[in-house]
Amino acid sequence: MDVTERLNEVLSRIRNAELYAGRAERSAALVAVSKTFDADAIRPVIAAGQRIFGENRVQEAQSKWPELKSETPGLELHLIGPLQSNKAADAVALFDVIETIDREKIARAVAEEMRKQQRILRLYVQVNTGLEPQKAGITPAETEAFVALCRDTIGIEIEGLMCIPPAEENPGPHFALLSKLAARCSLGRLSMGMSGDFETAIEFGATSVRVGSAIFGTR
Ligand SMILES: *Cc1c(COP(=O)(O)O)cnc(C)c1O
Repeated sequence: MDVTERLNEVLSRIRNAELYAGRAERSAALVAVSKTFDADAIRPVIAAGQRIFGENRVQEAQSKWPELKSETPGLELHLIGPLQSNKAADAVALFDVIETIDREKIARAVAEEMRKQQRILRLYVQVNTGLEPQKAGITPAETEAFVALCRDTIGIEIEGLMCIPPAEENPGPHFALLSKLAARCSLGRLSMGMSGDFETAIEFGATSVRVGSAIFGTR
């Protein structure tokens, strides 16, 4: 299978998962994760109609997306990796969605850059549902207060929550927890599910899934 066939296969699995879960068609969006692949590997996926992409490093994204964005209007780029505050200006300039807001310093840096650059990005809070020490994200217990801080004190809208469950665990309980936390915060969007578990994530209410290797191949 080439990359276009793999994209179409993933899209049809997403549609089937929506159907199986009794959900509306196209209620789960695909974020195609293109990290480590260069512009030439990404172009066929854009040509096949995919418009939403995810990258986990600001600097790597800067090496390919300004060009790709200028070639094709309407692309939507998501930052799905950790953000350092010294990269906030670059991230706000290039990305359309940041999914990894997870501490006050980053929330404030992004808020300030959005004001300076007069750009409004859509923002997600990353939750460390497995309480893994090496993983980014706010703890489940702190999520509600952090979302309120972003909204009420820092003045940024949060659109939804994002998580990356521990690699070795059944992801279902993590997806269920993220969904419960989002409901508590009155947030309607859930970014969860990757190549190995996106159908499960859709069953648990994912509104976007982040799929890399099932489309682009192994990294
Ligand atoms: C790499 C990555 C993905 C995609 O992972 P695959 O297993 O290749 O689908 C999803 N989310 C995040 C945060 C990632 O870093």
